[in-house]
Amino acid sequence: MLDEKPDSVLLNAGDNFQGTLYYTLGKWNITQEFLNKLPFDATVLGNHEFDDKIAGVVPFIKALNHPVVVCNIDDTLEPSIQGLYAKSTVIERNGKKIGIIGVIISTCDCFYTAAKSNLVCMLYSEFETKCYFKLVKMSYLTESLKIEILMMIGYGDRARTQCEVVPLFRETHPDLPPLNQGTISKIEAQYREMGHVRKVPSKRQAVVDDDTKLNLLLALEENPITPARQLARDSNLNHKTVLKILKYEKKRPYKMQAVQELLEDDPDRRLEFCDLLMSNIFQLKSPPCIIVIIIILEMTLVSENEKFDLSFLLKEIASTGNLKFYLESPSVNEEAERLVKEEGVFTNIVVSHSGYDREIAIAQNASEKISLIVGGHSHSFLYTGDNPPGPDTPEGPYPTVVESKNGKNVLVVQASAYTKYLGNITVFLDENGEVADYSGAPIFLDTYYTKDEQINEELVPWKAMVDAHGTKVIGSSLVTLDRSKSYSGECTLGNFIADSMVYSVSMPV
Ligand SMILES: [Zn+2]
Repeated sequence: MLDEKPDSVLLNAGDNFQGTLYYTLGKWNITQEFLNKLPFDATVLGNHEFDDKIAGVVPFIKALNHPVVVCNIDDTLEPSIQGLYAKSTVIERNGKKIGIIGVIISTCDCFYTAAKSNLVCMLYSEFETKCYFKLVKMSYLTESLKIEILMMIGYGDRARTQCEVVPLFRETHPDLPPLNQGTISKIEAQYREMGHVRKVPSKRQAVVDDDTKLNLLLALEENPITPARQLARDSNLNHKTVLKILKYEKKRPYKMQAVQELLEDDPDRRLEFCDLLMSNIFQLKSPPCIIVIIIILEMTLVSENEKFDLSFLLKEIASTGNLKFYLESPSVNEEAERLVKEEGVFTNIVVSHSGYDREIAIAQNASEKISLIVGGHSHSFLYTGDNPPGPDTPEGPYPTVVESKNGKNVLVVQASAYTKYLGNITVFLDENGEVADYSGAPIFLDTYYTKDEQINEELVPWKAMVDAHGTKVIGSSLVTLDRSKSYSGECTLGNFIADSMVYSVSMPV
């Protein structure tokens, strides 16, 4: 194509990281090696470029042989990335200067990107299946369960570490919430000290007969959101005594907070829920951040009592370090105006990684001299006409023509993801640098295009490394692990990943 149209501009709309084992194992090394074989005029950073934190993206930018552009990042507090990219770059075609401005989604540092909200959606599905994260506490364990745990430790068939008992208990009692190591430790200590595992009454315990207490606890178990005052009334005790008993038993009525009603097949509400969950987490001050969200019957209960470490989610959030992200439109416009004034550019092209909706908004708000937005992030396949070249259903026309606030036409294009298509547009500009006409459509990169032999050969050493890992069997699944619904609902791959996260955090390190 470049032979036919040597004046073409080749742009990369970001998210070069991730995809397959090639990235998982080779990281930026392999990514830059092959990107550098294409004559890009500019690349914008995508949110996934921060998946291995700033330390993961710095060597990548350094290794690229073309400019990286992003105009809406403040890197004052992150010296390692300073000076490695610019807000824009200016290229020249046919004696005319063209500004290329990069922009990344401004919520990049929040837990909001598709991948991350998927993670929360997956967790949401798990929570929905009831209090998955609740660990077994001493007070829930009957005497016979405690004896069984002692047997597992080594008063039975063979000696086990407390660490080994956790999964064994889980296997033996899949119906019970998982056990934590601290509880095992307490049971063992009591047995060693006293020779039994019966409940030891506290000296400070209120004098209430066992039956009354049992009834109170049963009532609470039946309806965990019963207020303490009502429990007191029902069991003919005073409020303070009830609070004392509950404290001793390490129980407390859940403080019910109906945060959101979750409806089935309603991805918008799920995303809203994700936002809410994340803002709850953000509000907590010191890590490790603890919060528990238990979902029962499509209701979210936030309990003050049950606590669970969700700090692993925070690790995800922190991947952009201390970078600040500014709103897309004002940042793009400011840079476009500067380029017109200081560099005398004829027109500007925005290479964006902020998603189709935001790209349309950038076009609507565009100041003068922005003619084209080449977008990414939302994986939108755009096409005009009835016969799209590939299997995808178009999300909008290619290009999507947007009238800006100044009454000028701004073109928005995107070409799906994974280099499945090559976006291809020719824009005709008038003498003022404004869109006069356009033509083009995304090219479906199917088997019609023969693979480049030389690239295949250069991939051989990497392929060997990938195959060495990729062909190793570490487990098997009886069902297909599908992710096709991962953006809108529950899917088997999502469940599998969420299960493994639950497993990893419920296991002692
Ligand atoms: Zn993205």
